[in-house]
Amino acid sequence: MLAPIYVSHGSPMTVLTDTPGHRFMAGLAATMPRPKAILMASAHWLTRGPAVSAPERNETIHDFYGFPPALYACRYPAPGAPELAARVVALLESAGMPTAVDPARGLDHGAWVPLLLAWPAADIPVAQLAIQPRQDPAHHLALGRALAALAEEGVLVIGSGSFTHNLGRIRRERVGVADEPDVAAFAEWMGAALAEGREADLLDYRARAPAAAEQHPTDEHLLPLYVAMGAAGKGARAERLHASSDYGVLRMDAFAFHS
Ligand code: ZN
Repeated sequence: MLAPIYVSHGSPMTVLTDTPGHRFMAGLAATMPRPKAILMASAHWLTRGPAVSAPERNETIHDFYGFPPALYACRYPAPGAPELAARVVALLESAGMPTAVDPARGLDHGAWVPLLLAWPAADIPVAQLAIQPRQDPAHHLALGRALAALAEEGVLVIGSGSFTHNLGRIRRERVGVADEPDVAAFAEWMGAALAEGREADLLDYRARAPAAAEQHPTDEHLLPLYVAMGAAGKGARAERLHASSDYGVLRMDAFAFHS
């Protein structure tokens, strides 16, 4: 049984910079049995309907601009997971969710930043699961729930996003500063709702959490959390694995979900 997890991948520079979030991800593999395969729901693959990737080997996608050459030199050539992709299609379709297969799609930085830190050997097969930015948290919870069998099949389901994600507020010189008050308030509310399993509050976070739209002008970086929560099955319990922030606005929290 591999507990599904949600991680905040933060800036692509997280992979090269020694931050608390970097150190957390670098220590992640030691906290669990080795997965047979990984299904990665990344905030950086956005589609209209459910989709899963199924390449033979994953290309590394450098889907960002204006970063140092060292970041573009990063590669994560993990094997693809076509069998896992087929299983995902079967599970989602039996739950009434038609699912597209992309045989060419590689790994975006939402996927490879945490993977490169946690499993640097890149020897575990990986498939990506797309996020639907036009759909709500309930859709993504249902997507995860349909995949709950995977946890018992040795597959690690990871949702990769960012617990807060307002890029317009990042000032790169603001390193090591305390959270802005509204960022802290949002993270505290969400953390409590997760710890107490308040599903209705979590699904309606945009109306009920303080300053929610300010933390997530668009919410594709929070939606992977609902996939991970769903993948632990009904009544899942959240365990906080990590809390930190970059620039006082970009929360790097991570959670595991136990059934
Ligand atoms: Zn991102």
